[in-house]
Amino acid sequence: MSYCVSRFRTVRRRTIEVKVGAVGVGADNPIRLQSMTTSDTQDVAATVKQSIALAEVGCEIVRITAPNVSAAKCLKDIRAQFSAAGFSHIPLVADIHFLPSAAMEAVEHVEKVRVNPGNYADKKKFAVREYSESDYDAELQRLHDAFSPLVKRARELGRALRIGTNHGSLSDRIMNRYGDTPLGMVESALEFLRIAAAHNYHQLILSMKSSNPKVMIQAYRLLVERMECENMFYPLHLGVTEAGDGEDGRIKSAIGIGSLLLDGLGDTIRVSLTEDSVYEIPVARAIADKAMSRWSPLPASPERENDRLDPYQFTRRAILPQTLSGGISLGPEQPPRVVVRVGPPENLAAVLPSLHSPKLKETPAEGLLVSIDSAAALNTLPVLDPGFFVLELAAGISAEACASQAARLRPGTVLLKSFTRTEATSLREFAAFAQAQNCVLAIDAPAPELAALADTLRSISDTKLWFTLSTPTDPTVHATGAYRQLAQTLQDVGSGAPIWIRNTAATAVLPDPSFLSRLLEASFLTGTLLCDGLGDVVSIETEADPVRAARLTYNVLQGAGARISKTEFVACPSCGRTLFDLQTTTQRIRAQTGHLKGVKLAIMGCIVNGPGEMADADFGYVGGAPGKINLYVGKNCVQYNIPQEEADARLIALIKAQGKWIDPELIRVWLADAQGSRGFKFRWSIWMG
Ligand code: SF4
Repeated sequence: MSYCVSRFRTVRRRTIEVKVGAVGVGADNPIRLQSMTTSDTQDVAATVKQSIALAEVGCEIVRITAPNVSAAKCLKDIRAQFSAAGFSHIPLVADIHFLPSAAMEAVEHVEKVRVNPGNYADKKKFAVREYSESDYDAELQRLHDAFSPLVKRARELGRALRIGTNHGSLSDRIMNRYGDTPLGMVESALEFLRIAAAHNYHQLILSMKSSNPKVMIQAYRLLVERMECENMFYPLHLGVTEAGDGEDGRIKSAIGIGSLLLDGLGDTIRVSLTEDSVYEIPVARAIADKAMSRWSPLPASPERENDRLDPYQFTRRAILPQTLSGGISLGPEQPPRVVVRVGPPENLAAVLPSLHSPKLKETPAEGLLVSIDSAAALNTLPVLDPGFFVLELAAGISAEACASQAARLRPGTVLLKSFTRTEATSLREFAAFAQAQNCVLAIDAPAPELAALADTLRSISDTKLWFTLSTPTDPTVHATGAYRQLAQTLQDVGSGAPIWIRNTAATAVLPDPSFLSRLLEASFLTGTLLCDGLGDVVSIETEADPVRAARLTYNVLQGAGARISKTEFVACPSCGRTLFDLQTTTQRIRAQTGHLKGVKLAIMGCIVNGPGEMADADFGYVGGAPGKINLYVGKNCVQYNIPQEEADARLIALIKAQGKWIDPELIRVWLADAQGSRGFKFRWSIWMG
């Protein structure tokens, strides 16, 4: 478990510096921001224009696809014109798939070349075969022969290379030996690293992207551990591929990138959105700034600060089942439950109608967090069905006062109370009261306080307890680390009680009050913990509007793959290979299929990469040729080159034929909400605020 210095603080991983032109990546450099142009690379004027637009909004490294040698040749003019426009300091990167010849041309003109180890020297046929050791060695020799010329030329010219592995586009050789797994992704990259090392070439940056944040997080962690075993300290480029657009795209990116940055991994990032590339940069800037503000100095002790979770294998923390009021339960088979803060009891009348609106049918506020300032108020609450109350008890309320005045407290209600190490007696009294009322006591206390209360906790039945943390306190201990410490302390005291993740970011942590900033913080904390297998209840309490808070919570749960409440869209960000307008197509298809809870739908701009990169989607809508679409069921293409005008209807017919269609009763609600009279463009402007 040596992928990071600390799982409780953000201590930056030590790397060598790689120079991408004038821009240093890794070592003591700040986290570098990058993005990609979406124009046809052979349209030099358009590509230069997009590169300038990106540079002007703060993009520090610009990537351009080079799908063939002709496109790679155009990089010469693009580089010259971009420099002439005053951007000689911004490096360009050629994005290569399949064609070593295109890479050999591109390396002459730009500062970095990205190759995909899954398809640089291998044809991907999804073939199943057994590789003997000699077959495998012969394949590696072929790889060595194909990659070495690029390495040698890059070394001569002082260029950098990125070994950019993507989940879903691994070579048949790797797939047959390791499967489409994080380990397969890592092995795929290591093959290339060893070839580069054999030529004494080290200007390398690595990436392990996936559209699934859990896979991506595990792959980067494993890569770092494996590289350290081989004394390799190359910088990392972080990204979640095909994250999609809008709130969902930002959340997925923030979960995957943020989780790794909080652990000190990552030197350059790209937030891939199915939107104009310039919109990626403010999100990337905000993510990078949040991570860098948390960087702590290297600890004096060489010992690494780890918890006992297996960081390379997702396992949900085991908890004891609980039944709450309103027919809702917690348990190992139950999804994380959603709690929404409503404030004092007098707010209930105003918010209950909207929280019970049909709009929230798939995203209900299951628990309502109500602030209680006197024990008498416990008797004033209405019956909530479905759902349960979480009652936040003010500091002065004693267990004795509750016992004398809480005759109407409904069984299965949750009582939230904070405790310090000196309050063992109070803790025992509240636990006894909760037990007598058949309620649950949610204990708000950081791990050191809980550890001091260990004997008391062991004497209380944990079938009626939750544990939570309200605010990050010590700025050097990030909130994610504090929850990891909490989980470890619960393991130490033998508790299987649920953990409630509360997003209550203090002003010190969240100086920028924009919605984007709050969304990123919630994704960092909640997404990271869910991807670690922690978290049974979630509340995002930074939102004043309870309906918005519920939506955001469900979107974060969906982004982390912890609770699916709507269609999952995997949409590529588009690039120079794209064969149709991805933004409008994604929005159009979402409007027709966004109600298909649990269905994963990929919308990919090209056939070259799409089928591999969409990995585990149920259905694929992939550009096959100009004006033509290929439709997929899983990884199998079932309809080729259908006219684009017919593709939506054929996709829906395909979903119906596979038995995954349901009546679109919620579409009207979604459209009214998402489009309104203001249109989609207005939505994008919200994220910038
Ligand atoms: S799938 Fe999309 S982003 Fe990837 S190469 Fe094709 S068009 Fe470009």
